[in-house]
Amino acid sequence: MQTQDYQALDRAHHLHPFTDFKALGEEGSRVVTHAEGVYIHDSEGNRILDGMAGLWCVNLGYGRRELVEAATAQLEQLPYYNTFFKTTHPPAVRLAEKLCDLAPAHINRVFFTGSGSEANDTVLRMVRRYWALKGQPDKQWIIGRENAYHGSTLAGMSLGGMAPMHAQGGPCVPGIAHIRQPYWFGEGRDMSPEAFGQTCAEALEEKILELGEEKVAAFIAEPVQGAGGAIMPPESYWPAVKKVLAKYDILLVADEVICGFGRLGEWFGSQHYGLEPDLMPIAKGLSSGYLPIGGVLVGDRVAETLIEEGGEFFHGFTYSGHPTCAAVALKNLELLEAEGVVDRVRDDLGPYLAERWASLVDHPIVGEARSLGLMGALELVADKTTGQRFDKSLGAGNLCRDLCFANGLVMRSVGDTMIISPPLVIRREEIDELVELARRALDETARQLTQVPHTQEEPTA
Ligand SMILES: *Cc1c(COP(=O)(O)O)cnc(C)c1O
Repeated sequence: MQTQDYQALDRAHHLHPFTDFKALGEEGSRVVTHAEGVYIHDSEGNRILDGMAGLWCVNLGYGRRELVEAATAQLEQLPYYNTFFKTTHPPAVRLAEKLCDLAPAHINRVFFTGSGSEANDTVLRMVRRYWALKGQPDKQWIIGRENAYHGSTLAGMSLGGMAPMHAQGGPCVPGIAHIRQPYWFGEGRDMSPEAFGQTCAEALEEKILELGEEKVAAFIAEPVQGAGGAIMPPESYWPAVKKVLAKYDILLVADEVICGFGRLGEWFGSQHYGLEPDLMPIAKGLSSGYLPIGGVLVGDRVAETLIEEGGEFFHGFTYSGHPTCAAVALKNLELLEAEGVVDRVRDDLGPYLAERWASLVDHPIVGEARSLGLMGALELVADKTTGQRFDKSLGAGNLCRDLCFANGLVMRSVGDTMIISPPLVIRREEIDELVELARRALDETARQLTQVPHTQEEPTA
């Protein structure tokens, strides 16, 4: 089969996630055929540096034999069995132990799911169940943030703050409120980052008082917003949020689906920011994306109440703790550990990327270049001195993304924010290549923006 054959069948039968079906049908899909290390290959013979690690998940890079062998061995031994009805199996047990070993000391339990969205569905149910068991059944509200991403199931979509999703999703799950995001470049430049971080934390306190402190169960947030645009909050933000949550006895849910497993240079993003979350949803990098698996790491406070006072918890998935997925996830964690990947992100690759990435801020259409660990963002602007954005109709971000692809780099656009999140095994010379390719795409974007208008679909997740 040739590219056109795949495209024709894809157009005829395949509805893609977060896609304008009609527009993609007209344009034709890119057909990715194989990959190794940090590179993907398409059916036209192009080699493309995957600056997004798939969808923020291929932390160990492509083509790892050890993960293939772990899957094969487990498929032969026990391809599937469930963990309902008082049964378990070695891969689920061993993965649970390993995760709790890596997690902060107060976290000693995990509930497995098939994805990050299912993990957040689980969070919603656990949090409400917890307060009901504590004799506070009115403590049901969950506060999330605008422009946060917590998945695409009904609960994930409702907890998240993506306006286009809410607009299409029908009524959201009731009892979920949203506050402003700590996005300094986008919303806070009339004050210092520190003052802005404080202001955003105050918004949390205001929302709690508005809803009634006895009614608020939990606050959910990504340590760094991923899909929203790789948004690192000001340093003042998390300490101030922690104080507010402690003051009103509200649970903290840190969505670690992207930040977990080394992305920010620690095993969990919460460790970078000194957070002690009660619950941590995980997925993506847990298996480096080789097989689908997620879960919720549950702190002692919640777990012990659910165990001691809960009776049966009526929740779970056919594939909770799937043995083959669990075996691959376990091997993935063992490799991350044995190869010192997380420490290397913190001590070497993160600082190296920060230095090289920051060099892009001298580009005429870049208003800010920020990074933390191996996650980075560029803010595209029409005017560097004022930070004035391009006219929306120009579709600057999507244009830049398309030019990146055409030049051999996957860099994603969220509006006019360009983001990267490469595999954690990227080498220094590959970081150089990534930055060089990004600069070339920026040059070409700047050139074209003064000529041809460009509009296209805008993926959210
Ligand atoms: C991707 C993502 C999810 C959803 O995970 P899926 O596996 O796609 O369901 C949830 N939270 C965050 C922070 C994510 O980035």
